[in-house]
Amino acid sequence: MKVDQFKITKKEKYTRVSARFTFVNPDLNKTVWFTLPTQIPTKSAVFDAFFILAVPLAYALNEDLDFKGIVSTQLYRDIHKIKPFINQRKSEAHLKVVSTQKRKKGPDAAGLFFSMGIDSFHSLLDASARDANDNLTYLIFIKGCELYRSGSSFYTWLISSLNKIAKATHATLLIVETNLRDLTDQIMSWNYYHGAAIAGSGMFFSHVLSTLYISSCDEYLLDDPWGTALRLDPLWSTEGVSIKTAGYPMIKVEKAEAIVKSPHRALALSHIWTCWKQPAHPEDRNCGRCEKCLRGLLCFKAVGYRENIPSFPPLTVSVMEKIDLRGGCLGTWQGIRNRLRRNGNLSPELMKVLEKKIENNKRWGWIEKINLLQ
Ligand SMILES: [Zn+2]
Repeated sequence: MKVDQFKITKKEKYTRVSARFTFVNPDLNKTVWFTLPTQIPTKSAVFDAFFILAVPLAYALNEDLDFKGIVSTQLYRDIHKIKPFINQRKSEAHLKVVSTQKRKKGPDAAGLFFSMGIDSFHSLLDASARDANDNLTYLIFIKGCELYRSGSSFYTWLISSLNKIAKATHATLLIVETNLRDLTDQIMSWNYYHGAAIAGSGMFFSHVLSTLYISSCDEYLLDDPWGTALRLDPLWSTEGVSIKTAGYPMIKVEKAEAIVKSPHRALALSHIWTCWKQPAHPEDRNCGRCEKCLRGLLCFKAVGYRENIPSFPPLTVSVMEKIDLRGGCLGTWQGIRNRLRRNGNLSPELMKVLEKKIENNKRWGWIEKINLLQ
């Protein structure tokens, strides 16, 4: 595969950057574009970003990469180590670049990828989730990754929420939009690719920051391949921008507890967006009917939060009965159940349904992957 034709085009309200991706199979050929806030990225940032975005695809297709740009020396040196994490251990693709160059360190500011979920809110609101010396200045939201093909009214709600969160926490919001997944979803699973998408999108901002944070999730406690991981995240770094993990090794329930204790609790609980589904309308932002919604909601109940959570619809026995828990892992669900048993914070009727579902799903061969959750 080849990546070339890098372009940076300044528009009135945003900057568009793009590169041409050409493959052995011409049906895959595509110009991948990003729109960025008015800040114009450097040429070296554009090279590093597209290199990060291209390499996993070369590994997944087992096609040698001919990258027509100058890449960070550190990034070029480390990137082959990503293979086991993105489920491409056996790939033999070679990576050819024009040359490599040591990047200069960016300004003393940090950015956090912010997707509005429990992990993101925790990374933002609990200072212990990050290195003490890092000055969190930017929240970065990527439209086209988390929000892939969703309705425009939902997007309007989302931008308004992101602006409120940024204002309340004195951060600057950076919104990136991209068509990246139109290409990558044809080549490899988003489960393995999403870390490259996040890190690559963030690299465009290397002229305004020197640290980028990716929030950990419960998958960080497993050894299975996954697109973001404690040992994988820093491999996307350059000399100019360090990519770090926020929130490790806390699990979601513990993060929910920290959010509930935060002075910004009300802000978080009215804006948390955790649903698997692609909502068409703002009022559907958390459907309350999928495994991920139930898991998010019950994390807060499990840590003793008794009030209504505005971002979720009310939970009823009939709704809970229809939810298939197997989208999450057994260990996570047992951890939530055990905490709920201890603090009795769910009605006996709902608790009965949850206990039954966990026992039934166990019998169906639900694999227990995380066993360190009490
Ligand atoms: Zn949902």
